[in-house]
Amino acid sequence: MKTIFLAKYLIFMLFLGIFVFLLASGCGAAGSFAMNSGRSHEESVMSAPIRLLTVCGVKSVAISALGPCKIVSGENKFQIMALKAGDLEITCSDKGLSVNGDSVSAAIIRVVPDGGKIKIGEIVFRGIAEIRYEKNAMNVINELGIEELVMSQVGREVSSGFKPEALKAQAIAARTFVLHEKIHSKFKVYDLKNLEGPGKIYFGTVTEHVPGNEAVEATRGITLRYGGETAFTPYFSNCGGYTEDVTEVWGTASKEPYLSPVPCFFCKPGEHYAWQTEIAKAHILATLNAAGYPAGDISEIDPNYEISKSGRTKTVRIAADKGKITLSLNEFRSIVGYNVLRSARSLTCRPRSGTFYFTGKGWGHGVGMCQDGANGMAKQGHSYKEILRRYYPGTEISSR
Ligand SMILES: [Zn+2]
Repeated sequence: MKTIFLAKYLIFMLFLGIFVFLLASGCGAAGSFAMNSGRSHEESVMSAPIRLLTVCGVKSVAISALGPCKIVSGENKFQIMALKAGDLEITCSDKGLSVNGDSVSAAIIRVVPDGGKIKIGEIVFRGIAEIRYEKNAMNVINELGIEELVMSQVGREVSSGFKPEALKAQAIAARTFVLHEKIHSKFKVYDLKNLEGPGKIYFGTVTEHVPGNEAVEATRGITLRYGGETAFTPYFSNCGGYTEDVTEVWGTASKEPYLSPVPCFFCKPGEHYAWQTEIAKAHILATLNAAGYPAGDISEIDPNYEISKSGRTKTVRIAADKGKITLSLNEFRSIVGYNVLRSARSLTCRPRSGTFYFTGKGWGHGVGMCQDGANGMAKQGHSYKEILRRYYPGTEISSR
C-alpha cells in the first residue's frame, strides 16, 4: 500500500512540476489556453484598469489630492512624497518634471490616492493621475476601473428618475461599449482619448447619481456578446419610433446584425420624442455660400429627398435661384449647425417669413438602444434582459 501511495505521490509531483514549469515559462498548455480564449482575454482586459488620455501637451497642471495620497515614480514605483491632502502644481521644463517647484528625477509620476479621489483642473476623478513628460510637455492619463467609468457614464446618459431596470440596461450597454472600445483601441500608452469634444467618455464623479451607481453595482461585470466577442453597443436618447441601421450612420464597413432597425413603441411619452426648430434663411444662405454653394435665394428645402428604411434623412434637396443643391445629411447639418437638428427622423420643413421651420422625431443617431424606450419598457414591467434583447437582438447577456 505504501509503495502504491508513494508511486501516486511521485506521479502527482511530476505532473505538478510540469504544470508549474509551463506556467512559469509562459508557454505550453496554460499559455496557449489564455492566448486562444477570446473570452479569457476579454475578461482580463475588463478587470485591468482603463487608461484615459485626459490632458495633452501642457506645461503645467494643477492636481489636488482630496485625501491622503502618494506620489510615486512611474518607472520603478519609488515613492517621491506622501501627502495627507493638498494641491499640487506639476510643471515641466526642458530639465523635466517638478512638483510644487521641486524637480523630480522621473519622466513619469503617478498621483495615487489612498482610497480617495483626485481633482485634475476643476474636475473630480476616480482612480489615479499619471503625468508623463514627453517632448518638453506633459500628458496626463487618468487610470481607473471600468466600473468606475461606467458609473459616470450612466449618470451622464440617463436621469436618476429612470426605472431601475432601464438603469441596469444602460449600465450593461455602457460597460459593453467601453470594453469594446478598449479591446479595439489602437493606442499603446493609453486606451482611449478623453479630451474635450466629441468622443469624451468620462466626465468625473460630478455626473454620477445614486440610482445609477446602484445599477452599475447590481450588474457588475455583465456585458453583451455576439459571436463569441464583446458587442458594439451604442445608445442614444430617443429613436422617434424606429431605430436606425448601423450602416446608415457608421458606413458599410459596420456589419453588426444586431444593430438593424427595430420598431420602438415605448419612447413616445419621452420628452425627446418630438421637436421643432426655426432657422433663419439668412444664416442658411451665408453658410451655404461659405461652403461653396452660392444659392442666391432659397424657396424650398426638401429634407426627405432620400431617406433610409427607418425614415431618416440621407440627403436634402434645396431649391435655390441658382439651381438645385443636393447635400448629404451631414453636409446639411454642417450648414445649419450640428446641434440644431436633434435627429434625422421624420423631418419636415416649411418656409416661413425669413425662416425655415423644421420638425422631427427623436434625439440622437438612432443606432442601438433607445434610452427613453428602455425606460418606457421598464415602466411596463420589462426586465433589463428584455430591454437589451429588444434593442440589441441576437446578442447574449454574459454571466459574470
Ligand atoms: Zn424609441
